[in-house]
Amino acid sequence: MHHKTIIEPFKIKSVEPIQMSTEAQREKFLEKAHNNPFLLDSDQVIIDFLTDSGTSAMSANQWAGIMRGDESYAGSSSWHAMENAVKSLTGMEFILPTHQGRAAERIIYSYLGGKGKTFISNTHFDTTRANIEFSGAEAIDIVIPEAHDPALIHPFKGNMDLGKLVQLIAEKGAKAIGAVILTVTNNSGGGQPVSMENAREISRICKANGILFLLDCCRVAENAYFIKMREAAYKNKTSREIAVELFSLADGAVMSSKKDALVNMGGFLAVRDKAIAEACSNLLIITEGFTTYGGLSGRDMEALAIGLEEIFDPNYLEYRIKSTTYLGEHLHKLGVPVVLPIGGHAVYIDAKKLYPHIPVTEYPGQALVCELYLKGGIRTVEIGSVMFGKYDDAGQLIPAAMELVRLAIPRRVYTQSHIEYVIETFSEILKDIPKTRGYKITREPKFLRHFTSHFEKL
Ligand SMILES: *Cc1c(COP(=O)(O)O)cnc(C)c1O
Repeated sequence: MHHKTIIEPFKIKSVEPIQMSTEAQREKFLEKAHNNPFLLDSDQVIIDFLTDSGTSAMSANQWAGIMRGDESYAGSSSWHAMENAVKSLTGMEFILPTHQGRAAERIIYSYLGGKGKTFISNTHFDTTRANIEFSGAEAIDIVIPEAHDPALIHPFKGNMDLGKLVQLIAEKGAKAIGAVILTVTNNSGGGQPVSMENAREISRICKANGILFLLDCCRVAENAYFIKMREAAYKNKTSREIAVELFSLADGAVMSSKKDALVNMGGFLAVRDKAIAEACSNLLIITEGFTTYGGLSGRDMEALAIGLEEIFDPNYLEYRIKSTTYLGEHLHKLGVPVVLPIGGHAVYIDAKKLYPHIPVTEYPGQALVCELYLKGGIRTVEIGSVMFGKYDDAGQLIPAAMELVRLAIPRRVYTQSHIEYVIETFSEILKDIPKTRGYKITREPKFLRHFTSHFEKL
């Protein structure tokens, strides 16, 4: 029999209660948070889709690993477990543990970067760009043009534009390129996957020009699953074999293990080159910790080693991607404008299209974020002019390219009925479109304003 219902391929051993609330209560909570869900307390939230980073549920086996964690300062057995897990997946010889992704980024990009250097990526994630620019180097995004059209269907919308890559190398000169960084899946580009074919071509171009090729591999398992499903030559390979092949094309990798290593904190840098590893180890010791723990406790490293194996369980990956797709496709069927195709870890809503009567200067994305919280206690994040908007000299808003709202789904945390609840909430939101109003910003910090801004309903 062919079952239609997506069941979670796990049972629940330990539960965390959700604090339920009424719409009237949430109105008060949101008012106190100045209409910015970042300022809500987590117990005021029913479904937390703020991020998939560090929010995974660990398995019973990982919790057992936590107890086994060896907290020795040097040469701990938990370090060896993590080192072996990362080495066997990446095939890279030198592994540096860090407390999270951006620490690994700071180390490698402060070493490779500096004034006059250029880094090229499909899309640099915010912390990647920030670390590169902080070193004095520039960061250029060259995702394929199809990625900029939210409604356009393409199997690998995370791919890098190879023509632009060749052109940029010719323009800047290979020596000035710090590295080419392929983000899999492309987080800031909607969690869209990159094809093996694209990665192989990038690798070939980099090798021919003597340029370092790095993977930002936070969601490498989700990307591998998409390759298995969408790239004919890989349909009989396991997702882990596909990931191993992806790594074989690169000279190094940076991972925030808070994503596809199923831990709440952790990361690493992996490289093949001894000289790079030695220089980076010096920075690691100064800023993170000794080479056999970086910024991590023994127990964190033990859980990371186990998570990195568990993530490739074919039943898990199938459920993970199908569950995200289910949410996205049901919203699409309801008539909610979503970014297509649905990515791996999140569903993105086009708020400008949902609320055509709210001008971008009144932040349609923030309006949807507030509606989702008020009607369903669902916390999401605006990725539009609140996050990326700037002002011109006359004080007029220069809006972002798109007004999106992201529903990022934590791993192994919510069940199918939670997903149904979210879909139901959207049907209510659709009914109230004409009544929905925009917002104005009443207080804002200079940088990263989405975190702490205050809003007032218009
Ligand atoms: C989360 C993330 C990072 C940064 O990792 P942190 O653990 O948050 O420091 C870097 N790149 C990508 C693609 C990410 O998703």
